[in-house]
Amino acid sequence: MSQPLSPCPHYIGGEWLTATGATTPVYNPSTGDVIAECPAAGQTEVDAAVAAAQAAFPAWRDTPPVERARVFFRYRQLVEQNFDLICRTVSREHGKTHAEARGSVFRGLENIEYACGIPTLLFGDSLKNIARGVDCETVNLPLGVCVGITPFNFPAMVPLWMFPTALACGNTFILKPSEKVPLTAILLGQLLEQAGCPKGVFNIIHGGRPVVDGLLKHPLVKAISFVGSTPIAKYIYDTGTQHGKRVQANGGAKNYIVVMPDADVAKTVENLTTAAFGCAGERCMAGSTAIAVGAAADRVLPDLVAAARAIKVGRTDTPAAQPDMGPVISAAHRDRVLGLLASGETEGAKIIADGRGVKIPDAPRGFYLGATIVDGVQNTMTLAREEVFGPVLNVMRMDDLDAAIEQANRSAFGNGAAIFTANGRAAREFSLRVKAGMVGVNVGVPATMAMFPFSGWDDSFFGDLHIQGKESIQFYTQQKVISSRWFGGDVGDVWKK
Ligand code: NAD
Repeated sequence: MSQPLSPCPHYIGGEWLTATGATTPVYNPSTGDVIAECPAAGQTEVDAAVAAAQAAFPAWRDTPPVERARVFFRYRQLVEQNFDLICRTVSREHGKTHAEARGSVFRGLENIEYACGIPTLLFGDSLKNIARGVDCETVNLPLGVCVGITPFNFPAMVPLWMFPTALACGNTFILKPSEKVPLTAILLGQLLEQAGCPKGVFNIIHGGRPVVDGLLKHPLVKAISFVGSTPIAKYIYDTGTQHGKRVQANGGAKNYIVVMPDADVAKTVENLTTAAFGCAGERCMAGSTAIAVGAAADRVLPDLVAAARAIKVGRTDTPAAQPDMGPVISAAHRDRVLGLLASGETEGAKIIADGRGVKIPDAPRGFYLGATIVDGVQNTMTLAREEVFGPVLNVMRMDDLDAAIEQANRSAFGNGAAIFTANGRAAREFSLRVKAGMVGVNVGVPATMAMFPFSGWDDSFFGDLHIQGKESIQFYTQQKVISSRWFGGDVGDVWKK
């Protein structure tokens, strides 16, 4: 009989604490094996983490920004030195291929690099003599205890979107990672500890709704950053703001890629394939629906179907030759995607590349799905409206660009949208009119880098200030405006000297 796995530790006040109580299994999606147990924190751990973060706040707030930045210069180096280990951990608990894991951890690293620039990012404004003898300046001050609640699909990148900037601004932080992928978060915490982050400045507690609710309602928590599905994002925003917190909550998505008849076929197929099937479609920026305009369908679809059928699916947890695509996160998620495909077929759509029967001989219990393309999708179908979050590309056909934009703008979401075309006028028209916060012109996944906001709209984002870029600095600081006047004797006119 195999030994029971000990639960992942919480990290509170600089101590790695053995968790007690109920746990949920963490799977290796490549094999279906349980590789860890994730504990469910309760109010005791919530209170302890908030108390530790609150106690650490004054000293960290008063640490000069250049010294805080030095922690992140060291952290950057440690993350780089441990890059392969982090990527292997991501692949093992999430199922990304090594190449995908490397890409995502690199995006996270850029956020650490962004945080290293904090001394200049925190600059305020000032104006001398706003009235006779009166000067005015803005200073950007930290908020206090901030919380990050993250999804399963980017175990390193999404936490790194949040805590380096929050901490560099002078806040303290509690990370509540997804209970499906706690191991990468622990590794990131261990490296931050090695980088010299003081005790209590950064904390990790695990669990699901009870721990999230405890954090959302805790009077000492000042701000909540959330990334996950739309219903939970909305719940986090509503509950957090009702309890007086600043909240930024990224939700799900349904991203359209419009293919014009003049698009470069080879480049479009290459980019569409990556956008739809990269990370097994488990990306909020996945290009999940292609709208083929006019003759584009006949030009692009044959090669696209061939490319999808050529995608090699397999295990990502071994150092052996990596596949093109790994498994999805769980058996339940795979079954949900299969259910959505079945509903599409019942409602009249046609599966033209079918990944449903994929079998991996050396991992029969893994959570696999092959790349699947569904043609003839109509807006009335569930498949067209719900986020699928799997390796599925819907194809819709439209007569012209106006109809394509109208269809994309019917979506409740507003994360990303892209156009493939050789026509600048069409690209400009699309970029300005499409209802999405991140737009790609001949770029299939227009996910933004650290210095730009991750700017979802509508049901893809609840809040005012987005994650990343200058907006994140504004989110994690509050401005104070100081007006000063000095009384006293005449100091003379320096210009005369
Ligand atoms: P999820 O909403 O199920 O979980 C996200 C986090 O919320 C986890 O930490 C989870 O423990 C917690 N949670 C789950 N249910 C909860 C509840 N009832 N009350 C309180 N907290 C709860 O999301 P997921 O399945 O982990 O991630 C996939 C989703 O995340 C997709 O919808 C994807 O589009 C979205 N996502 C969005 C972005 C973005 O930037 N817009 C980025 C990555 C992922």
